[in-house]
Amino acid sequence: MGDEKLRKELFYMVRLTSKYDFSNIDVVEEILRLENERQILDSVFGKRFKTRIFDIATGQNADDKCVICGQLANNHVICDHCMTTIGDSGYGKKEVESKQDKKRVSLHINPKLVFQYIAVFCLTLILLVQIWVLSLWISIPTRNQVVEAKVSDYDPVEITSIEDGLKEVKKDFPEEDGYTVYFSQEREEFVGRFLLDKGQCCLEVEEGLTNEERYDYFFTEEVYVYYISYKDDSSAKQGIAEVNKDGAIIVLGSFNDGRRTDSYYKFR
Ligand SMILES: [Zn+2]
Repeated sequence: MGDEKLRKELFYMVRLTSKYDFSNIDVVEEILRLENERQILDSVFGKRFKTRIFDIATGQNADDKCVICGQLANNHVICDHCMTTIGDSGYGKKEVESKQDKKRVSLHINPKLVFQYIAVFCLTLILLVQIWVLSLWISIPTRNQVVEAKVSDYDPVEITSIEDGLKEVKKDFPEEDGYTVYFSQEREEFVGRFLLDKGQCCLEVEEGLTNEERYDYFFTEEVYVYYISYKDDSSAKQGIAEVNKDGAIIVLGSFNDGRRTDSYYKFR
């Protein structure tokens, strides 16, 4: 048994003795019942104490000797000397203080812990949001995949008038599919653009031309320019088609996802 435990036990006995009337059987029964639950008084002194108060309560011829030191005890349980020295030992005060300390400590720790849990929760949440944004970011290119440039199903037909050109462009962008095509102007365009393979991007080809190829490519010729527009409930597209005298067509606009919308493509 530890020293501390014995000190506590002795102090408990002194406190009970100073507080209660052991001739009252109800009081003693209550003390013994509590003791049965808490098992505080289990040293030699404690056991002696329990026997003594039971004897007093039941009116048996109780011993007069102090249960602690064996001196004469006026109250039949603990002598005055033991009552004084143990009662003033400071253990009681210490016990009360340590309880208050514990309370203070636990009050002190709790908000800290709560804060830590909240911080961990928030940081986890932020991390999850970042992962979500990153996954969105990674998935964007696959959602908006680069597709082949749209090309015409028709062969070039010689163009002699604005109306001829309009008719040819409308073959690929028919009104019944929701397109509107109208003539805009005549203008000059690079010859080379109309000689590319269907689906090629004019800008990309021009970037790779040698000086000699550039010489031929950047001659200009007269072309007809037509505007194309499309609109339904969920989308709108807009573009330009240029047609040369041979009936070759280049287009620019938002007709295909993932293409350069600011560059001409060979269409027909
Ligand atoms: Zn004593």
